Amino acid sequence: MSRPRRASPSRTACGVLTAGETLTGPADLVQEACGLLAAYLPRLEREAPVPDETAFAAPGMTARPPAAPLPGNAAAIYALTSIHATARQLEGVLKYAAGARRPGPLAVRGGSDANTLGALDAITALIGIAGDDLYRMVITELEQRLDEARSVRAIDEAEQWRPVRSRACPSCGCYFLRVLLDAAARPTGRIACFGHRESGAPCRAAWPGLADIIPDLARAETADMEG
Ligand SMILES: [Zn+2]
Repeated sequence: MSRPRRASPSRTACGVLTAGETLTGPADLVQEACGLLAAYLPRLEREAPVPDETAFAAPGMTARPPAAPLPGNAAAIYALTSIHATARQLEGVLKYAAGARRPGPLAVRGGSDANTLGALDAITALIGIAGDDLYRMVITELEQRLDEARSVRAIDEAEQWRPVRSRACPSCGCYFLRVLLDAAARPTGRIACFGHRESGAPCRAAWPGLADIIPDLARAETADMEG
C-alpha cells in the first residue's frame, strides 16, 4: 500500500538534515514507533500496579491468585521497563554514531518518564544519521517494544489506533493521524497525531472527533459502518 509522502529531503555531506527539511522514508517508521511508544507509556504506568486477573487462565477457568513473582501486571511492568531501557540504549548508540563521547552528551539520563520521552524524541531526531545496519537494529528494537506493549491485555483491548494514511495532520502536515478504535474495533472518533514537527518535536495534536478535522472522511466511516 502506498502512502502520500512529503518531498524527499536532501542530505548534507555528513548526513544531517538541514534546517527546514523534514524526515521521510524509513525514518518515518522510527518516528511513528517512537510516537506510539510515547503514547503507550502513561497507559502502561496505569496498568503496571493492577494485577491482570485474566492472565494465565485457561478458557472457562478463573485466573490463578497472584502467586506471580511480580506484584501487579507483570506484562505491563516488563513492557514498561523495556521501553525505559531501550529508549536510553538506542539514544546512546545513535549519539555515539553521531560522534558523541563520554562524558558529555552521552551522560546517562535519569529514570523518569520525562527522560524516556526525551530519549524517544532524541532517537527520532538522530535516526537520519544511522546507516542501514544501525537503522535496522533501531527499528527492530522499537518494534519489539511495541509488540510487548500491545501484548498487555488491557492495552490490546482498550487502545487500538488505526492509521489514517490518506490525510495530512492539520497541525504538523505529516501523515501520522490515527483514529482510536473501541473494543469491537469500531472507530470511536477520537483522533490523534503520532507524527513530529519539523523541529523534531512530537506533534501530539488530538481531536475529540474525526468530523472536527476531516468531515468527509467521518461521513465515509459512518457509511462504512452502516453498509
Ligand atoms: Zn501532527
